[in-house]
Amino acid sequence: MQSFLQYNPTRIWFGQGQIKQLKQELGTAGKKVLLVYGGGSIKTNGVYDAVREQLEDMQAEVVELSGVEPNPRLTTVQKGIQMCRDNQIDLILAVGGGSVIDCVKAIAVGAYYEGDVWDIITRKATPTRALPFGTVLTLAATGSEMNNISVITHWERNEKRGWGSPLAYPTFSILDPEFTFSVPRDQTVYGIVDMMSHVLEQYFHRTEHAEMMDRFMESVLLTVIEAAPKLLANLNSYEHRATVMYAGTTAFNGLLSSGKDGGDWASHQIEHGLSAIYDIPHGGGLAIVFPNWMRHCAEEDPSRMKKLAIAVFGIDPTGKTDYEVAIEGCQALRDFWNSLGAPNRLGDYGIDDSRLDELVHKSFMKDQVGQYKIMTRDTVRDILLRSLS
Ligand code: NAP
Ligand code: FE
Repeated sequence: MQSFLQYNPTRIWFGQGQIKQLKQELGTAGKKVLLVYGGGSIKTNGVYDAVREQLEDMQAEVVELSGVEPNPRLTTVQKGIQMCRDNQIDLILAVGGGSVIDCVKAIAVGAYYEGDVWDIITRKATPTRALPFGTVLTLAATGSEMNNISVITHWERNEKRGWGSPLAYPTFSILDPEFTFSVPRDQTVYGIVDMMSHVLEQYFHRTEHAEMMDRFMESVLLTVIEAAPKLLANLNSYEHRATVMYAGTTAFNGLLSSGKDGGDWASHQIEHGLSAIYDIPHGGGLAIVFPNWMRHCAEEDPSRMKKLAIAVFGIDPTGKTDYEVAIEGCQALRDFWNSLGAPNRLGDYGIDDSRLDELVHKSFMKDQVGQYKIMTRDTVRDILLRSLS
């Protein structure tokens, strides 16, 4: 195991009715709050009313920024920053999924940055101060509610960039599984694929003697694999929504990368290229790319994939080569995501090879793509070609 610092300052209030903690979390009465949300799902499922009730109780002065896009855009971040400055906002409240939360993280650091916030998102500038912010999570997927990562799209340039900062942890997050009952089936599946992908990215590491971390990760995957079909059979099941919600948070809040290297993340980079050009859902893109990345890696070195295949997908290795076990594991993941109804080829989104060069280019928004296996432009191209059909 490697040496590490484990630090996560976000307070998590988990469970039914935890929205009542909002008043206490927001602090003294009369604060100026920027309330940020997406395209309006919170207006139809009662979450907006529940939040407003708390804000009114503490006599908060509320300014609203609505319409944050799935795959949130720089222009919306910039709008939010201006609103913070114009209204002397004390605190930001994100109510939504990963897109709303990621947008708020960028607004929070951008409010105190004199230049263009894109400098921070592209890692050219380091933020030194941020407005405090909290979240009310409405969709189990990204883990953004308990991490310091944010992903923002510059739509005009077709660039989707991930960035992080110690200042980008939410102060608190309220996770009520009931708030996710209204998430439609397809978004529920995308969320499940995303959280599993976060674990898988971290599973492909090269640290020796990290057995405990491997078992933590296997446990999260096994739990999601067990709960997901049950949840899809009953989208209003509190218990399964709760299991999947906490799995999503645990998958990407730092716990699983303690004591080992951070994992691979090439599939996320490749997916960011796809979303940047075609604006597809993050989880949908990962469902297509990840099993192809796994196959690509297994052909060179099947050892890690073999371990996953046996521990998580129950593949019997008797009488088989390592490679055969690994490939059965890749197929088992593909079959599982297929059984949930996830997309499995770029054609499902009408994507063909006409912009392949650009897709390869857009995957290289960081100097290095992949850590378990460092990608070249040719290897990314190979994975995209496998993903076409
Ligand atoms: P999302 O983009 O936040 O939301 C997707 C859709 O779900 C939206 O249309 C939203 O509608 C709807 N929705 C949300 N909650 C709902 C509810 N309770 N009932 C009904 N509909 C609901 O999805 P996400 O998967 O959480 O976030 C995706 C983004 O996060 C991508 O940009 C991805 O790259 C990024 N990401 C971030 C991290 C990180 O660590 N920060 C990790 C992975 C991915 P409304 O707009 O109407 O609310
Ligand atoms: Fe993700």
